[in-house]
Amino acid sequence: MNKDLKESPEIPCIHIKNHIAYRVSISFLQLTGYSELDVMGKSVNDIGRLLKSEYQLFLQDITDKQCAYIFTSDNIPVEVEISVVNENNTVYYFKEQKNIALEFMLDNFANDPTEKNESEAIFSYPECILLKHDENYIDTLHAMDRNSEQLVGKQPSLSPNIIELFKKGMSFHKLKIQSISVNGVETYWNIHVKMIREDGRKKYFAASFYDKTDKVNEREIIKRQRSEMELILDNMSDIVNILDKDGNYTYINKAGIKALEPYTPKYIRDLQSVTSRMTYDAFTTGDIPANILPFEDTAEQRVLRGEKLTDYMISGTSDLPTAYYVCDGIPFHDKQGNIDGAIIVYKNLESAYKIEEYKALQENEEDISIYYATLSPEDFKIISINEPAFKTVKEKKGYLKTELDVIGKKFFELIDFKNIDELIRGINQSVENKTSYVHQNDFMYKGKKIYTKSVFQPAFNKNGEIEKIIVLGIDISDEVRITKEIKKQLTVQEELFINISHELNTPLSVIFSGAQLLNLYLEKDSLEEVREEISNINTTTIGNCHRLIKLINNILDISKIESGLYELNLRNYNIVKVIDDIVESVSEFTKLKNIQLIFDTEVEELVIALDGYKFDRILLNLISNAIKFSITGEVILIKLVEKNDQTISISITDQGIGIAPHNIEDIFQKYTQVNRDLNRISEGTGLGLPLARSMAELHGGSLRVESALGRGSTFTIELPIRMVDAVSVEEDANSVHRAEIIKYEFSDIYL
Ligand code: ADP
Repeated sequence: MNKDLKESPEIPCIHIKNHIAYRVSISFLQLTGYSELDVMGKSVNDIGRLLKSEYQLFLQDITDKQCAYIFTSDNIPVEVEISVVNENNTVYYFKEQKNIALEFMLDNFANDPTEKNESEAIFSYPECILLKHDENYIDTLHAMDRNSEQLVGKQPSLSPNIIELFKKGMSFHKLKIQSISVNGVETYWNIHVKMIREDGRKKYFAASFYDKTDKVNEREIIKRQRSEMELILDNMSDIVNILDKDGNYTYINKAGIKALEPYTPKYIRDLQSVTSRMTYDAFTTGDIPANILPFEDTAEQRVLRGEKLTDYMISGTSDLPTAYYVCDGIPFHDKQGNIDGAIIVYKNLESAYKIEEYKALQENEEDISIYYATLSPEDFKIISINEPAFKTVKEKKGYLKTELDVIGKKFFELIDFKNIDELIRGINQSVENKTSYVHQNDFMYKGKKIYTKSVFQPAFNKNGEIEKIIVLGIDISDEVRITKEIKKQLTVQEELFINISHELNTPLSVIFSGAQLLNLYLEKDSLEEVREEISNINTTTIGNCHRLIKLINNILDISKIESGLYELNLRNYNIVKVIDDIVESVSEFTKLKNIQLIFDTEVEELVIALDGYKFDRILLNLISNAIKFSITGEVILIKLVEKNDQTISISITDQGIGIAPHNIEDIFQKYTQVNRDLNRISEGTGLGLPLARSMAELHGGSLRVESALGRGSTFTIELPIRMVDAVSVEEDANSVHRAEIIKYEFSDIYL
């Protein structure tokens, strides 16, 4: 075969010696369009590169002969059979393969296409070697972010998926295909491929590329946006519904489907075929608290009529626990401006059990004062609020009519909290630490001071993200009042101890000094000389012992009354006589102090049931007080009046120092001596009046006082007119103990 080639001078050839071309035939130059200079002195490798055959084969590797495409200086492909003859030197023969199909294709190939986004190229089959391309092909490669250097003579630098497609050897029209570059640039193409046969064998194909990227991109963006939107919507805990103008659902997100499912009649397979009327019929829609809403007032109908809704609160009731939602909705319009549909978003107000709690709180609002609200964690806007909490807001902001008016408003702008900065810091800290924050507050409500303890509890969703802040305010007014009372009691008791120690000290020191004095007298020869002194000492000692006994008795009586052990021993007495006798028995004291004690009675005789001893204690205490706080020359008036068939009243009026209005009620409190800090004109422990009142009350009566500071006081005992089943009327069985009582009761009067 090599011999044939040698003998045919027409066959283009190159002679190589020591790997360098040293001779080239004219026919080769004619075939390739190169000049002698382009070839001479070049290495075999360089010649392969010049002919652009290097990607198909290496010339030096050819042992016998091989077909390949070489390219002329004008980049026109020529199919040649290359054979090698090795004698002294090496000769490469290039025998052109006549190829009508290729010639035809090349003749009809338009180098400059009309369409900007379109390019065309011819490839060999099955090797897919690029034989020819138009000017736009380079732009195509640029657009594809693909290599555009030395194109012909090698496999195209197209995306591998496109090359794979070419290798299938099929003609196709407008196939949509994606190209991805090494750098990840995605472009989209309509590719058109026409396979060309030569001798019945697929030999070439022409491929054209139409850039569809922009359009595809747009579409892709929309598609991606929609799937992104759906992803977002489906992952929302809020319900999102899109309705057409007739109220049919065109889209329901996952949360919506979940919420609707239980209410949807079983025969409805496809939730998307549900209409708003169906859902309305399936479960009762109401406002909050659940009054049924007519169909026209549902969020869907209102928005489809063109309304824009924000924070519309509704409840859904069925066999399931009632669900509460805050609803937002907007209508959308077609090109003509007509309403075309609506988007409705339902934010679930609370999880089911919280709602139950919320409902329970709503229902029990009269009985308990628990303030409940939930707030958004970022800006503390109210998500929900119960009635008691709302009422406290309304008290200050009268323009807020219903709970719905405060939803979405900032909590701390509506409710006065003290140390707000510290409070917000505390709440934020509690969110961080996932703990609760407790805050004490007080405010005026209907003229009353209300003390509350508020717990701010952050609530997290299952992903551990903060969802809301639950505020639970508890009315601790009673607790605070009790604490204050206890505090007061403690101070009062402290006072008592001071009083008692004084009360013990004074008589004790008198008794003690008397005893010491007695000792001195006893040293005297004749006691007879000091008889009077001794007698005086003794009288003072006894008086002070009475004072001590009075104190002890009063303390004992008070504790007996407090423990409910104090009992009445009722007998029938003529009260007129009893009072008369009492007045008589203290006359000694009044005379000494030059005080006029007058008993004035409307009735001559009135028999009622009394505990004689206790009545004496009451009256004698009041008389001794009147004497204590009166000065010489003043009058004390005791008046007995039969108020009606059932009640008598006994009043003791003095012209003494009187009691300041703010102290009036205090004097009936145990251990209170309101004028303690004033000139101490009397002694006492402050137990007399509380005891007297308790005893009057034990009789079914009362004891009250009217007084003007500096003008005097009137203490009034009221007792029921009643009798015990006894025939006899006690005359005056009290005379024995009365003397005792007087001793004690009057023991602290300095005469
Ligand atoms: P005490 O046994 O210490 O006198 P009371 O309970 O009888 O205690 O009285 C309590 C206080 O009420 C007295 O300390 C005094 O301040 C006031 N008080 C009682 N009666 C009168 C009165 N007639 N006039 C003015 N103050 C009175």
